[in-house]
Amino acid sequence: MTARTRADLESLPVYIPGRTIPGAVKLASNEVSAGPLPSVVAAIADAAAGVNRYPDNGVTALLERLAARLDVPRSQVAAGCGSVALCQQLVQATCGRDDEVLFAWPSFEAYPLITQVAGVRQRTVPLRRDHSHDLPAMLDAITAATRVVFVCSPNNPTGTAVRRDELVAFLDAVPDGVLVALDEAYHEFVTDPAVPDGVVLHRDNVGWDNLAVLRTFSKAYGLAGLRVGYCVAPEPIITALHTVSMPFSVNSLAQVAALASLDVADELLARCQGIAAERDRVRAELLAMGYPVPDSQANFVWLPLGEQTAAFNNHCLDHKIVIRAYPGTGARITISTPAENEAFLAAARSFPRPPRSAG
Ligand SMILES: *Cc1c(COP(=O)(O)O)cnc(C)c1O
Repeated sequence: MTARTRADLESLPVYIPGRTIPGAVKLASNEVSAGPLPSVVAAIADAAAGVNRYPDNGVTALLERLAARLDVPRSQVAAGCGSVALCQQLVQATCGRDDEVLFAWPSFEAYPLITQVAGVRQRTVPLRRDHSHDLPAMLDAITAATRVVFVCSPNNPTGTAVRRDELVAFLDAVPDGVLVALDEAYHEFVTDPAVPDGVVLHRDNVGWDNLAVLRTFSKAYGLAGLRVGYCVAPEPIITALHTVSMPFSVNSLAQVAALASLDVADELLARCQGIAAERDRVRAELLAMGYPVPDSQANFVWLPLGEQTAAFNNHCLDHKIVIRAYPGTGARITISTPAENEAFLAAARSFPRPPRSAG
């Protein structure tokens, strides 16, 4: 006897995690390179003694804390097993057969995966020439079947962020019945004042009851290994997220670590500002070398190297630097400590064929 799996599984895109090579500098997964602060490690260690018990399914303490911090009612926040799980829950809560999910491309690789696993259709809209979201074109691409639009800002892998005026115009024009999922996984690295804070847009809600803002503890808060993210949205969306969530999806160590990280948020966010300053420095150096580099508001930079991507990736690997290559498209490099960034810049400098700002 054999088991019969879904016929479409083989056509599913494979999520490619950043590679880990012993001894190499890892700039492939957009993690922060510094480990958790000692107080966070201590909180996790304390909580370890209680893991024979199930976690708090309501994630009560963390959600209360987030609601107070973000100045939103407790009923407008949900937590999930990473914000990736919340993306999936949003699709599951809104899409049935024949419905559609819309997103820009290239963007976060989990979107096509989630969409196909849910068995619904996807529609993509290319980024503009400057590698930013083309929101007017995305608006035009909405059909009667569209239920969710993912807007990733800053966008993974290009680092570009949508501006307030563009996003507000988009939200004003999106038809009724379409959820806009604003994925702000890199929000804490944004320095451009023209880039809106999704939670503020949510609080100022001027009639969009279809906006869900996604954030995570994985990047700025350095808890990628524990899997916890959150969503801020109007209450009906939060209720729907709960309805489709797996029981106990946010584990007890993650809940405790997220709370302990909020205790030291000032220090962690100052660290993000340091990374943002390094990002701007690295970008300026790359531009000076002749690489075309879009303006990044995240903790990584994007090199649209096209056909040269594989050669660039191999060159970096020869220098024991692991970056994230998107074959035929470009390379994404996570910003790390100044020393590791320098190691990358040295490799970029010695790459034999830097493109001359081809665009
Ligand atoms: C890293 C990332 C996430 C976060 O994922 P978690 O599941 O919270 O670790 C979400 N969206 C984007 C665009 C990302 O790059």
